[in-house]
Amino acid sequence: PPERYEVLRRRIYSNTKEIWYYVSSSLRSLAKEFEDLKPKISHMKTMVDEHYRSLLRDVAKLADVDGYSQWRWKEFDSLSRLVEKRFLHAQNPPDCSKAKKLQCNFISVCPQKNCCGYGCRVHHFVKCLVVAYATQRTMIIGTPKKWDFTSRGFESIFLPLSDTCTSNDGETVSLWPGDESIQVINYNVPTPEYAPKHLHPPYIPVVLPEDLAGRINVLHGDPAVWWIGQFFKYIFRPQPSTTSLFNEFSKRVRFQKPIVGIHVRRTDKLLGEASFHKLEEYMYHVEEYYKLKELNGEYHKKRIYLATDDATLFDEARLKYPEYDVIGDPEISKNAGTQKRELDSSIMNIITDIHFLSQCDHIVCTFSSNVCRLAYEIMNSLQPDASTKFNSLDDTFYFSGQVHRLNVALISHKADNPDEMDLEVGDEIEVAGNHWDGYSKAVNLRTKKRLLYPGFKVTTKIEVLPFATYPNITV
Ligand code: GDP
Repeated sequence: PPERYEVLRRRIYSNTKEIWYYVSSSLRSLAKEFEDLKPKISHMKTMVDEHYRSLLRDVAKLADVDGYSQWRWKEFDSLSRLVEKRFLHAQNPPDCSKAKKLQCNFISVCPQKNCCGYGCRVHHFVKCLVVAYATQRTMIIGTPKKWDFTSRGFESIFLPLSDTCTSNDGETVSLWPGDESIQVINYNVPTPEYAPKHLHPPYIPVVLPEDLAGRINVLHGDPAVWWIGQFFKYIFRPQPSTTSLFNEFSKRVRFQKPIVGIHVRRTDKLLGEASFHKLEEYMYHVEEYYKLKELNGEYHKKRIYLATDDATLFDEARLKYPEYDVIGDPEISKNAGTQKRELDSSIMNIITDIHFLSQCDHIVCTFSSNVCRLAYEIMNSLQPDASTKFNSLDDTFYFSGQVHRLNVALISHKADNPDEMDLEVGDEIEVAGNHWDGYSKAVNLRTKKRLLYPGFKVTTKIEVLPFATYPNITV
């Protein structure tokens, strides 16, 4: 399909959401201000919700009837296979002793061991794989103990990154960035934010490879998410024993579709990194998901897959939502909020929760959590475009360590109050967050001011760089 058609179709979908956020939030403010209008406003809200669902349904259906749905799967298949073949090529050099390598070292910067959990660490891990891919080097896992996946090693759970090359031997060694002639480049992650700019490789998402960006942008509503997902798909190729564990778990908890995944992050995350959200806030979006299904004439048993570090939520969910099947296992949440959470005995717990969240039809969670973003990224590597299948109760999507995420203004805007920014068509703005009320926050790079703007007036700016292009690899 023409790029302009796909981009427009998805823009109508996301702006349908934006207008609904705007109207819902405005009605809430009015109801607070004018007590006597409450019944009238409540009626309006019911009607607005019905309009909203009907519009969402129709726009979603467009993608089924426009004749391109087969193409989307074919293109998804072909692009994913191309990228995977390139990974396999870079990771399996015929002669390891001659190969150019990027050794990835994890430097723990936190005072307490648990400050960068599994989700955080695998995001750093993927950063290295991105840089290795971009510079066509074989990624070698340095400091395996510090990565702390398990004492038995990454390969006890997932297939090795390489079948031919794991040794970091090389004639010449240097720290990133080094230069092309150096055989082994050491890349230390996380690179502290205050580190000089040259220590931050430019290839870190949300930047895309120039040679693929166009295709990814036609295929997917949030190209960076698709791109990041491919790397996770590669590193999380399960060992047969892991596949068996997933299958047994699936049978035991009776995992079945349709199902909405919810990830509720509590415990240590609430000590300054994220706010508390009640179960009801998550379930609101779950209810909306099933209402949309019903509008399509699909009546299903309502199900959620519950992943959380707070095991008490299972009882709460079953008590408050008796009409739901609450799928999941409180046992695997039990150590999740404690120092014991990533011992060998429980690392499979978080891996299992992330796997099943990514298999869900829709996810409701908080993008401030690495676990939630990870599940969403993997979900997007399994189908052509799952960029609309989430609700985040806090942040918009980001990649930790990203330089910035840019939007560009399509429609001008005159600030209505001191909290808002002026927008000129073409202004580039650095996204800080969506307030989920029709407005988002950003720094306008023209005026350098960090203010609010109406979300529908902008679109994502795709940033690209020349990465290695692997000209001999074809599908
Ligand atoms: P973040 O702190 O949420 O950004 O993600 P991290 O992965 O860095 O750290 C969170 C850690 O808490 C994980 O690695 C898990 O050990 C634990 N955890 C968080 N959420 C869950 C969950 O839903 N299930 C399980 N089993 N563990 C969780």
